[in-house]
Amino acid sequence: MTAETLTVRGACPHDCPDTCALITTVDNGVAIKVHGNPEHRHTDGVLCTKVSRYAERTHHAERLLTPMRRTGPKGSGRFEPISWDEALDTIATRLGGIASRDPQAVLPYSYAGTMGLVQGESMAARFFHRLGASLLDRTICAAAGGEGLVQTLGAKVGMKVEHFARAKLIVIWGSNSIGSNLHFWKLAQQAKRDGARLVCIDPRRTETAEKCHEHIALRPGTDAALALALMHQLITNGWLDHDYIRDHTLGFEALRERALQWPPERAAAVCDVPVQQIIDLARAYGTTKPAAIRLNYGMQRVRGGGNAVRAVACLPALVGAWRHAAGGVLLSSSGQFPVERAALQRPDLLAGRQPRTINMSTIGDDLLREASPAFGPKIEAVVVYNSNPVAVAPESGKVVRGFARDDLFTVVLEHFRTDTADHADILLPATTQLEHWDIHTSYGHTDVLLNRPAIAPVGQSRTNTDVFRALARRMGFTEPCFDDDDETLCRQAFRPDVIDFQQLLDQGFATLKMPDAPYANGGFPTPSGRCEFFSARLQAQGLDGLPDHLPNHEPAGSSAAYPLAMISPPARNFLNSSFVNVQSLRDIEGEPVLEMHPADASSRGIGDGDMVRVFNDRGEYRCRVKVGARARRGVVNGLGIWWRKLGPDGTNVNEVTSQRLTDLGRGPTFYDCLVEVARAGEAA
Ligand code: SF4
Repeated sequence: MTAETLTVRGACPHDCPDTCALITTVDNGVAIKVHGNPEHRHTDGVLCTKVSRYAERTHHAERLLTPMRRTGPKGSGRFEPISWDEALDTIATRLGGIASRDPQAVLPYSYAGTMGLVQGESMAARFFHRLGASLLDRTICAAAGGEGLVQTLGAKVGMKVEHFARAKLIVIWGSNSIGSNLHFWKLAQQAKRDGARLVCIDPRRTETAEKCHEHIALRPGTDAALALALMHQLITNGWLDHDYIRDHTLGFEALRERALQWPPERAAAVCDVPVQQIIDLARAYGTTKPAAIRLNYGMQRVRGGGNAVRAVACLPALVGAWRHAAGGVLLSSSGQFPVERAALQRPDLLAGRQPRTINMSTIGDDLLREASPAFGPKIEAVVVYNSNPVAVAPESGKVVRGFARDDLFTVVLEHFRTDTADHADILLPATTQLEHWDIHTSYGHTDVLLNRPAIAPVGQSRTNTDVFRALARRMGFTEPCFDDDDETLCRQAFRPDVIDFQQLLDQGFATLKMPDAPYANGGFPTPSGRCEFFSARLQAQGLDGLPDHLPNHEPAGSSAAYPLAMISPPARNFLNSSFVNVQSLRDIEGEPVLEMHPADASSRGIGDGDMVRVFNDRGEYRCRVKVGARARRGVVNGLGIWWRKLGPDGTNVNEVTSQRLTDLGRGPTFYDCLVEVARAGEAA
């Protein structure tokens, strides 16, 4: 290393609960290494394999370096470089023309390509609010579970992750923690060494399930049935904390009646698991203290996902687990952070207008809709940032058709030429996390992290904020908020009495002040202040006030043509569609894979390593089959999310997933999907 070498503190921007603290080593303006900050207790100096390769991703030979204009048909990926002035002028002219007729015909489309509060929804939200564009319902990952938590605990809150290390029973529900919550897994391992029992509930026999004492491989979409049967056993065996229930919950008698309809035998038939497994788990949960549940979002990607999260979130209050720091449930901690969203996003710029809302999970249908009184104007322009909908949105045959519309003006801010970028009219090179300021909350711990730029923007790339600032100027938006720079935006994210910004500047992170056992004495952020087994708010919407099991839209066994249930969890070395183009990670994954149980494979004449067609009425894709124990019988696991153009036939697993929505939160139902599988040829 040279005298020019320096290290810069930052934060991992990716959609992962761990929100690690990064240290980037920079040599002569080039990021040469990214490692975990050992001073940040949650990171503890360790990053996952994916982000350990961040320098490779940042200085990747295929980084977009200049603005570009499409020269070939949509999807062809043929572009020519243009100047920033030409790109921004073109965008401002096109958006201005559309907005002069109806600004709602412009749609922003973004998600968690960065979780940063500044490069996510700050200047971008201000711009679209000022324009009066359609609002986007950002549902694609966590909407059903988030709503389930809000209706039960009052917000996306739960136990503090660090205390899992002291639990005596840990139920890992719908999470492959080794792949997607690595730092929690370290805590679970510590608890295991100290004698804790680990139980994994997941249709797939994941790396995590293999390492737990017990694996309950239920059918996809049956988690609420299992949770209700656990309640049944807690009630009938008297494993309840009556004082906690009396003092800190709402609706126990009604929940009791509901749960008594779910003896273990009924749930065992629905979940297709042994009755004894349910009875044993209930006994363990009812009699072990402290007991902790790490819930993750996989299980809520089905029709009844919101109810399932509600059912699981009721369990800790029944046994009084919240009394202990190491007891309770954690799905997300994001609701603990008092983010000043209105200051960042400035909804006041709507100035009384109430644009329609488009659900990002139905973008395939919505891009193909004509104008109507119910829908409003046809979507004429989409501005995509921090997202890759052509690869990740469900029922991608329709998504591709929508983005291929010749009359749609599409702008994409990206690092790479993704499947979505290939459909852009104007493609803008965006900075990565190593090149910009940002500030981060977490959904897996309770620290705020600051991200400082470590290197100058690569090529001509610009920050998202800079792009929207420049567009605002061209559109004649003169409000002073469009002059805020990125450090100013970072400072606006929290009130000074909540987070000391100087501490963030000095050490890179700051911890929220909150008690170790936040709900030991109730005080849930619900309207009643109690854990709401019964939700009057849901009832007021005409919904069931109690949690229940809602069968999938596409229940296993309901279709002779499509007898296999499919889930599509992430391949271990990818994070949704991020990292698929990092060669060293793609080399580990090899190619798109479908995991299949030996009995399902042999009955179809399929051998391990064969190419297969996975299909239903929505579409089909081809991939390599791995026959083995990772898949339970009747369920196939289509690992995602490959870029379409890097998979066989230019398709991916979302060819077969559905746009139907969840019970709560209007979320997608990726894991509620019936398919058939057949051998296929090697060539396209
Ligand atoms: S993806 Fe998750 S585990 Fe990996 S570095 Fe980022 S926050 Fe940490």
